[in-house]
Amino acid sequence: MTDSEKFETLDPENWDEMRSLAHRAVDDALDYIQSARERPVWQPVPPDVAEKLMSPAPDGPSDPADVYEEFLVNIMPYNLHTNHPRFWPWYMGSGTVMGALADFLAAVLNPNVGGINHVAPRVEQQVINWIIGMMGFPENASGLLTSGGSMANFTALAVARNTSAGYDVRHEGVLAAPGPLTAYASTEIHSCNQKAIETLGLGSAGLRHVAVNDDYTIDMDALEKQVAQDREAGMIPFCVIATAGTINTGAIDDMNAIADFCEREKLWFHVDGAIGAVAVLAENVRNLLGGMERADSIALDLHKWMHIPFEAGCVVVRDASAHRESFALVPEYLQREAEGGGMASGSVWFSDYGLQLTRQFRALKVWMSIKEHGLARFGRMIARNVDQAHYLGELIEANSNLELMAPIGLDIVCFRYNPGGLETGQLNELNKTLLVELQEGGVAAPSYTTLHGMYCLRAAISNHRSRFEDFDLMVEEVRKIGAGLASTGTR
Ligand SMILES: *Cc1c(COP(=O)(O)O)cnc(C)c1O
Repeated sequence: MTDSEKFETLDPENWDEMRSLAHRAVDDALDYIQSARERPVWQPVPPDVAEKLMSPAPDGPSDPADVYEEFLVNIMPYNLHTNHPRFWPWYMGSGTVMGALADFLAAVLNPNVGGINHVAPRVEQQVINWIIGMMGFPENASGLLTSGGSMANFTALAVARNTSAGYDVRHEGVLAAPGPLTAYASTEIHSCNQKAIETLGLGSAGLRHVAVNDDYTIDMDALEKQVAQDREAGMIPFCVIATAGTINTGAIDDMNAIADFCEREKLWFHVDGAIGAVAVLAENVRNLLGGMERADSIALDLHKWMHIPFEAGCVVVRDASAHRESFALVPEYLQREAEGGGMASGSVWFSDYGLQLTRQFRALKVWMSIKEHGLARFGRMIARNVDQAHYLGELIEANSNLELMAPIGLDIVCFRYNPGGLETGQLNELNKTLLVELQEGGVAAPSYTTLHGMYCLRAAISNHRSRFEDFDLMVEEVRKIGAGLASTGTR
């Protein structure tokens, strides 16, 4: 073995050069975020770049500066610019500078937050305590930071299933159930919940999709009937999933009505609050969430309306021991020691509260962002997005060629261009083409959904950089493209 082989590591060969590269990267990163408004909201990946991204892994090393250069040229420009002030497709947060810095620092520290006695689990516990407080849950509730809403919902539904089944599901499995365990939610439920129910062994038939009212909230009479009918048929209802902010229209189910119903029927009350749970911070919509604090569990996203860089979600569970009993499994090599027992004595082992053992330090970006801004500012950002959604609604209503397609729930606006005289099929085609032209033009990026067979443009306004005039710009652009399409008969 040569000397250079003996001392080879993955550390920089030249620390000074790496240091100046790191400084450059920070400057470029801040420039990128600061100038978000000046670039197109979207740019497709050009074929030559796509081609480069199919080359095989290199066997030998490259100069770090060259690797960075490739990032600047081939990756950065074609990013999904969630930081752009007119980025309103699907439903995502827009990131924060401190959050990005914290993610860098978390990677530098590189702790494993599955457990063990060190500072990071305490940071995560503090963040969870803050969220438990925000949700109005009791102090002894438990929680876990997750990759996002999907894993938060999965985790909660696993606890719901195990706790409500009435026997030891972990040991005996779902086959031992006296009947099919069944959960209930509205037809507007997010697909991740169905994936969770399927993965929990209950089958997609284990999730009942209950009809909604005109405002897209769950129809309580229909829910009641379905549960009664299913009990009659020998099924075992165990859980109702309420949605606080549906993905299509931002509708909020009647939390108190569902809480009452679950109490009466002895069902687990879970809230999918991926979008709307954090709106408890906003004065103008907080009251819509009344009753959510009565839930058995809440799943929420921090990388949506709290703008923490991806990925960050959270689940909170009222009954901490039910939570732990669903996931704790402690082999010899993970046995715990009492306080003072060295590294193995950590008080919180988050690996007992979810599927993951090794866990990243995602709490740091949440902790640093909340410290930097304070909860009140997050609340103001949320409240302003709600106001902006209604402002966009007014612009749409004031324009005879635009049509509002659903009541505005929280910050989601569904609309379409309708010049009159066209059938649904033609309108759908026109609006599909319109959306592609709008996105390719790079001015603004809403996405789409279909409501009662009608294709709509859908603006999900979860963005702390949007200004009111940004919506004027989008409406102007939609009208321009729409008029062009209507006049050429392109549909
Ligand atoms: C986004 C979303 C989810 C899924 O959350 P991820 O963070 O994407 O995993 C679940 N439910 C609702 C209502 C959502 O909007």
